[in-house]
Amino acid sequence: MPELPEVETIKRGLQPFLEQKTIQGLQVNRQDLRIPIPDNTRQMIQGQYVQFIKRHGKYLCVELANGQTIVWHMGMSGSVRVYHDDKEPYEPQKHDHIVMTTDAPATIVFNDPRRFGMFYTHPTEQIQNTPPFSQMGCDALQSTAKTLYPQLQNKKSPIKTVLLDQAIVAGLGNIYVCEALYKARISPFKPANALSFSEVETLSKHIDEILAEAIQKGGSSLKDHRMTDGSMGYFQNFFGVYGKKGVACPHCTCDPEQTGGIKQVKQAGRSTFYCSEKQK
Ligand SMILES: [Zn+2]
Repeated sequence: MPELPEVETIKRGLQPFLEQKTIQGLQVNRQDLRIPIPDNTRQMIQGQYVQFIKRHGKYLCVELANGQTIVWHMGMSGSVRVYHDDKEPYEPQKHDHIVMTTDAPATIVFNDPRRFGMFYTHPTEQIQNTPPFSQMGCDALQSTAKTLYPQLQNKKSPIKTVLLDQAIVAGLGNIYVCEALYKARISPFKPANALSFSEVETLSKHIDEILAEAIQKGGSSLKDHRMTDGSMGYFQNFFGVYGKKGVACPHCTCDPEQTGGIKQVKQAGRSTFYCSEKQK
């Protein structure tokens, strides 16, 4: 599932072709996404000038001049492709649910094979007071030890599970939580309220670093994520633990023959990867 770095990569790829541009056409090929695309969406969007594209957690918010915002979520498998020159004209693909044209000029296509994505409009003024945004914690890039530590004090659940809760920190998902805990050398099983302030500081620093590095590398392309020009992100080549069951983690002093290397367990239904030698 696209997490903060992948969605930020998509936002940055969209900006030159959508921000401060006019949406000239909107074609909806399939309405039955996780929330069905409302019937009036085309009427709300077509002909509108785009003021800003913002990202909140894993959501994109496209603010229009008419006071409406497009709420856009990639779901499990969504990707966005921008076609903007004659060298590579748009050719429809299976699962292209939304095709938008702008006066950049550009054709912007939302493809989502599993259809867990979302695309609908909502009045901009009410966005922050309406779910999902009203229930969302601080964006992971804005989160600091000072904002995070107090939120962990009444949480007895494992830190791994708590960090996945979008009401605590918005934008983190399974990959970046595993990687940040590994870098911070904190066990994914440690109860959230057992972390000291200095451990939360270390964790927060590594969350920032890992997100910044992943954004710089275009995100992680495991299955579906692509940058808006169709190329793959390559942060998956820099994972320390994610998807690496049984091998030694980078620079690990432990012998995987004896320790079994990086471990994979299920926590709250999601795979956790960790090094039991480094993470305590
Ligand atoms: Zn290790």
